[in-house]
Amino acid sequence: MPMRDYGIKTIEGAGLAGRAGRWDLSIAGGRITTLRASQASGGGVILPLLADIHTHLDKTFTSCRMPQRAESLFHAIEMMAADTRNWSDADLRERAGKALARAYANGTGLIRSHLDWHGTQTPKAWHVLTELAQDWHGRVDVELASLTPLDDLVVHGESIAAAVKASGGVLGAFVYRNADLASKVAQVFDLAERCDLHLDFHVDEGLEPEACGIDAIIAETRKRDMQGRVLCGHGCALSVRQPAEVAELLSRGGDAGIGLTVLPECNAYLQDVEPGRTPRLRGLAPLHEARAAGIKVMFGSDNVRDAFYPYGDYDLFDVFRTAVLSGHLAPGDWIDAISEAPANWTGRSMRLREGGPADFIRIAAADLDDAVSRPRAARQIWRGGQILAEHQGDFT
Ligand SMILES: [Zn+2]
Repeated sequence: MPMRDYGIKTIEGAGLAGRAGRWDLSIAGGRITTLRASQASGGGVILPLLADIHTHLDKTFTSCRMPQRAESLFHAIEMMAADTRNWSDADLRERAGKALARAYANGTGLIRSHLDWHGTQTPKAWHVLTELAQDWHGRVDVELASLTPLDDLVVHGESIAAAVKASGGVLGAFVYRNADLASKVAQVFDLAERCDLHLDFHVDEGLEPEACGIDAIIAETRKRDMQGRVLCGHGCALSVRQPAEVAELLSRGGDAGIGLTVLPECNAYLQDVEPGRTPRLRGLAPLHEARAAGIKVMFGSDNVRDAFYPYGDYDLFDVFRTAVLSGHLAPGDWIDAISEAPANWTGRSMRLREGGPADFIRIAAADLDDAVSRPRAARQIWRGGQILAEHQGDFT
């Protein structure tokens, strides 16, 4: 790996994303040795490493093999299923490895990936990603979450949960307007309790107001006192349900201690899609209201370069830019949604501190608004006190 700048380094007058004022940093031996308030300026903006809590490393970089653009979420699911015949160990390793390399180069230090899991057999991708996670440990830490349609999970859940537990993973399900939904969700929570597993759901990823799987998930989380252990991804249908009902639901979600992952790019691309017609609805979960109700809100990449979303580069700061625009967010108030909030959710911290590792992102910008505004501003990725060569930039 090409590096530069060995020895003691200083950065003067930098902004720290999400914190007031300017700061001077000294770096030696791979650590931040001092971090002090400064009167200087011009040092750029520094962000902690990013944590991408919701991705799909088994599906990624397959968009070139898709016969056409997806016309709906379920059309994307069909095309993706047809592609699994190509998923050899080598194919999975090549595509997922490329994804991790891109994430690392873009300043991500942690990724959680959902991996499709049907039936009792551990999927090939789970084995391949477990090996890749070992290779990448310390550069990009990888967490794996099983992703099984809810109806299948209640049939095969015992063996899936046991295998997921044995490999230190998270249990997940795809929940969307299933028959007998509440009792099936309760069965998933039974499994999680019995095996001491965290849960991560794809829930209500659509625009029918009848989609209310999240209601059952919140109720079970409250009942079983599983705060901080249950993450809900998408929640698009919340954007079309009655506001008063949603407010009351989010309040219960805050009390229950669920987390909400908002996937702004994939949802904007796939929701309300119809060839030749401009989308009116963008499937954005009510993230301001959720956070105000006490729910931990995070942003993730979701699908990258596959049937669901043929774009993206595991650049979570770019996802953040989309979230800022589509969600009317003040960047400084929400930067934690791609760094500290998801890191904390997995029991880690990315926060910069004196004595901590010199791992961070430095952008040649006056402040965070400036960084969001200028996608081509130079970006340095610092790992262990050294700059990854490909991101050297001019800060003068
Ligand atoms: Zn997803």
